[in-house]
Amino acid sequence: MPLAIDRNQKVVFAHRKNFVGKPTASGSVSWDYKGDEHVIVRPEDGRPAETWKVTCRECRQKLEFTVHSVAGARRRQARWRAIAWTGLAVLIASVVGCFVIGGAALAVLIPLAVAGAATGYYVGGIASDEMGVTGHGAGMPIVAKHSVTLIESRPAGMEELVCEKCGHEEPYRWGSHMRKGYVERQYRGAKARLDAHTCRAR
Ligand SMILES: [Zn+2]
Ligand SMILES: [Zn+2]
Repeated sequence: MPLAIDRNQKVVFAHRKNFVGKPTASGSVSWDYKGDEHVIVRPEDGRPAETWKVTCRECRQKLEFTVHSVAGARRRQARWRAIAWTGLAVLIASVVGCFVIGGAALAVLIPLAVAGAATGYYVGGIASDEMGVTGHGAGMPIVAKHSVTLIESRPAGMEELVCEKCGHEEPYRWGSHMRKGYVERQYRGAKARLDAHTCRAR
């Protein structure tokens, strides 16, 4: 699933030692991880990438990340996708070649097919993870000591459903990869549950 790219990009910057869980696109997310929430303002489309400086609260290390514009981030996703498709094309061409040419050429064609498949697989993964914020291995939370994870902005008009009196929360599923009608139904259902909840503060 490609990540949602926003102009005002909400991210979680986390130190690995403290990294508890990866935020997902569900409503309950903000409490699942340790690390700080930041809002990065991406440069306008067409402008060069900007530097985002952040100091880690855990280890006081100063880090710099490169932040790409919305269009720039999408271009980076598209470029990775193009490489992934090329890998897939190499795979198909080599498999076809194995049957058509065969014989001595197999020694070349089979490794080529494997390489094509691997490229398509790994690069396809990078394409869906590309977020247009780069540096220090951002986007590779296991490898890097610090991680930057995007948080999707909530859909317009669907606020967090929390009771102001007792803090009771009704989570609901949302995310750019879900159908709008589905998310709206989830929201309406959660709102009805919130309205009907037994308030502890009364
Ligand atoms: Zn740190
Ligand atoms: Zn309540």
